[in-house]
Amino acid sequence: MILLENITKKFQTKSNVIVGVDDVTLSINKGEIYGIVGYSGAGKSTLLRCMNILERPSSGSVKIDGTDLLQLSNKDLRKARQSIGMIFQGFHLISSKTVFENVAFALKAAGIEKKAITKSVEELLEIVGLKDRINQFPAQLSGGQKQRVSIARALANNPKVLLCDEATSALDPGTTKSILTLLKRINQELGLTIVIITHEMEVVKEICHRCAVMQDGKVVEQGKTYDIFSNPQQPLTKTFIQTVL
Ligand code: ATP
Ligand code: MG
Repeated sequence: MILLENITKKFQTKSNVIVGVDDVTLSINKGEIYGIVGYSGAGKSTLLRCMNILERPSSGSVKIDGTDLLQLSNKDLRKARQSIGMIFQGFHLISSKTVFENVAFALKAAGIEKKAITKSVEELLEIVGLKDRINQFPAQLSGGQKQRVSIARALANNPKVLLCDEATSALDPGTTKSILTLLKRINQELGLTIVIITHEMEVVKEICHRCAVMQDGKVVEQGKTYDIFSNPQQPLTKTFIQTVL
């Protein structure tokens, strides 16, 4: 359902050109949880941002359910983006708004009728297990709870795809596990396709059906998580796996 073909993203700086992503071809199936691992600077975030054209690739194509996002008008691209939710390491919640208001804001932006918003917020907070915190502010929540709010907000558009950029990196192992369990449940119950960027192979092992390993902007290895763990081909993949075993 997500098809990246020959994606390259170059950044022009004052003194030189930096290649963030270098000719990556990748397909992610509908309903799949797909992991992307690699060290800092490998190009993971840039590749993820290319999936919803937050970053416009220098070349290549991005197709979601057959639609080539790079061929769309700005208006149609905005519409297509609504079916792609995103969550981040830093949560990106609005600190002056309550949990209710943070999620309501996203529903309003998604064009949900005013009178339906309260019920929708409650439903979304029910999904992420945070209904009892509805009137609190982000500062009153733990990291894991903040991430739950940001997941609820990302689900406001009823997306088909959820992109997660280091969504658990700021969390302790126990909290990480509970967020991964939530993502797994969302994948199973809502049928969402989930792409997870992480530098922790533990996260991949826990929930990803398939994964790709990135180095210097390239995908150096990809496959089913089980196969990657049982028979890694690349030295980098082996190094990553050793951190788990
Ligand atoms: P991390 O694990 O630290 O988040 P990453 O794998 O997500 O790293 P990216 O953020 O995708 O890596 O960066 C890939 C490369 O592209 C890096 O060399 C980075 O410096 C470069 N890069 C990313 N964004 C820009 C930008 N806006 N301008 C210039 N270079 C950039
Ligand atoms: Mg990154």
